[in-house]
Amino acid sequence: MHVKTIDEPLPLRQLNTLLSRLPKNASWRKLIEEDLAKRKAGLTGENSLDYYLPFLDQNDFIFQDLRLPTGSTFVQMDLLILTPAFILIGEVKNIAGTVTFDSKFQQFYRTYRDQEQTLPNPLFQVQRQKNRLLQWLQENRYPIVPILSLILFTDSRTRILAPDSFQSSTLPTIGHAEILPSTVETLKKQYPKTKLRPQTTNRLVEQLLKSHRPQRIAVMEKFGVTCADLIKGILCPTCKTGIMVRFGRSWKCPNCAEVDRTAHVHAIQDYAWLIKNEATNQELRHFLNISSRHVMKKLIHSMHLSLKEPYKSGKNNIYIIPD
Ligand SMILES: [Zn+2]
Repeated sequence: MHVKTIDEPLPLRQLNTLLSRLPKNASWRKLIEEDLAKRKAGLTGENSLDYYLPFLDQNDFIFQDLRLPTGSTFVQMDLLILTPAFILIGEVKNIAGTVTFDSKFQQFYRTYRDQEQTLPNPLFQVQRQKNRLLQWLQENRYPIVPILSLILFTDSRTRILAPDSFQSSTLPTIGHAEILPSTVETLKKQYPKTKLRPQTTNRLVEQLLKSHRPQRIAVMEKFGVTCADLIKGILCPTCKTGIMVRFGRSWKCPNCAEVDRTAHVHAIQDYAWLIKNEATNQELRHFLNISSRHVMKKLIHSMHLSLKEPYKSGKNNIYIIPD
């Protein structure tokens, strides 16, 4: 059963928002656009796995894009398949060209258009995921189950090179996404012993879903952008460049003449994705470029934003902006 699909990733929306609020000639644009492209490729890879999921045993529980808190950190898994006998985690890679697992220095690199680039080694990535998932299961008092791993390349043109020693059974299986259904079947034969009773499995499924925390990036810190660098005001949702002005009880774009009653909602959302998901009336006025405290208050109330703490004096109220 496919119990969790891929989230619409918040980091992509955050990066797009950041680009929309930086001047056209800002020096950060190139790095941000590169990061965005990388994440989009990753997402395309994860999505293309969907084709193979219906071929899996539908009595098992399939999760995609799961992120769980463990201690002070998180474990993020592109794919998790829960069976009564084992848990299989999959790291999904969408990399063009030739990828090489080098056993001597434990490196991983890709060759593409005559260029060589060293990348984080997926073998270490899945090892960390395994350790953290094990920790999460122990923290939540589940019985010990074997945790197995897979590294899946979703671009069928990717050439994978690895030394023969990688055939060892202790290593994760590496291959193209199409090996997923047959690998699960093979593992089921290797691990036939039931470790989780049905009620424990159900509890685990529920807890995995409930514990999932979507990733959010500190997007400004990541690129060294400060609030002063951002374009303030309510950006026009149509032409994306005009700064809207108050027009009766609505907003109007001086650029394309678009009138939008709820344009401020997007701007407040921008604030949450870029800066923080809570704000005072004054902080929002500064970001939205609204001089009237009264107008701002009305807008906040119209959005039914909840207060972080019980109502005190109007000035110090902190409102929570949902994602
Ligand atoms: Zn416009």
